[in-house]
Amino acid sequence: MRKLYTTLISFMTTFSGYDFKDQKALIRVDFNVPLDEHYNITDDTRMKATLPTIRKVLNDGGSVILMSHLGRPKDGPAEKYSLKHLVPHLKELLGGTPVYFANDCIGTEAIEKASALKPGEVLLLENLRFYKEEEKGDAAFAEKLSKLGDVYINDAFGTAHRAHASTAVIAGFFKPANRMFGLVMEGEVRSAEKVLHQAERPFCAIIGGAKVSDKILIIENLLNKASDIIIGGGMAYTFIKARGGHIGNSLCETDRMDTALEILKKATGKNVSIHLPEDSVIADKFDAMANTKTSPSDQIPDGWMGLDIGPKAIGIFSEVIQKSRTILWNGPMGVFEMEKFQAGTKAIAEATAKATAAGAFSLVGGGDSVAAINKFQLANQVSYVSTGGGAMLEYFEGKILPGIAALNED
Ligand code: AMP
Repeated sequence: MRKLYTTLISFMTTFSGYDFKDQKALIRVDFNVPLDEHYNITDDTRMKATLPTIRKVLNDGGSVILMSHLGRPKDGPAEKYSLKHLVPHLKELLGGTPVYFANDCIGTEAIEKASALKPGEVLLLENLRFYKEEEKGDAAFAEKLSKLGDVYINDAFGTAHRAHASTAVIAGFFKPANRMFGLVMEGEVRSAEKVLHQAERPFCAIIGGAKVSDKILIIENLLNKASDIIIGGGMAYTFIKARGGHIGNSLCETDRMDTALEILKKATGKNVSIHLPEDSVIADKFDAMANTKTSPSDQIPDGWMGLDIGPKAIGIFSEVIQKSRTILWNGPMGVFEMEKFQAGTKAIAEATAKATAAGAFSLVGGGDSVAAINKFQLANQVSYVSTGGGAMLEYFEGKILPGIAALNED
């Protein structure tokens, strides 16, 4: 990993220092945006994120060929998953730049349109996943794609954990000097590496969400890095029950109770403090209108369930967060989608923002924590908000992501 980081820095320099004049840049972007039934884009965050990368190439006097997947098409081309629906909005975002579309990502039309592309112009290719070869990481398919551009740029962090043709295999068809990360990838990788390998201590990891099983590997890896691990959300109750607590009808994965105990034991051995919520906001049903009260987390009556951390837990967790110099946050502290159970997640977001204002480095990642920080309008008060849910989780589990490794191979 150490080597990876060192190598990475040189690649980071490559994109910003590269002169794209008269070059055709083939950029793997993540345009997997949600569409409504009329094909209107309901959230264009991913498209906007990659604009600086596209603009740099265009401003240098190069042209851009964009390739992406959209949704999960099962049997080849399907209207519902066509990237052509994105063209009008892409034109709007790029204000005045000519944007063309190829009805296929390989084949005659793609080749002709790519070769006719002039500096300052953009070509969007049809959905890569209309070919099964994409997800299979097929080398012949990757080679066909590679012929469309002079330079390969990977700017799709959201798929960096997949060894697909366009995200990893394709890199092998470009010389090391002609393949690089785009600005989105750079930002993601730089922030994650900072937390994983250059964290200033105390380093606090906040892990929440519904299921322990989804977060075991990340917790195991963080046991070697963090000074404090805060565990909240539904997953906390498996730990509390494993320690002998009574959790009523709260979420529990009984088959993970042994693992939970092992984690607690390992933490003691490694001098990592694990913080579980001392109290909880409990409810008599999983419902926005449920009756609620506060209870010690290990004495929840039958018929009641913990749906948020309680006021004592908020106080203790906030104190830990505010004394930290590095903060990683993945997963909500409660059912923050319902107003009655949002206070814990909101307080953790606020404590993270406060610590950041006092000089800590904070990284928030994973679908639901990003949704939470946006809901509480604190996204611009943390150091970095990661866009890649699954990719980010695997990165913090200590795995090497194929999309990153492919650019670092000699
Ligand atoms: P995850 O995708 O595993 O990060 O879980 C996120 C989901 O966990 C959110 O939709 C939350 O509503 C839910 N969640 C958080 N805390 C609890 C809890 N105590 N009981 C049930 N669900 C929870």
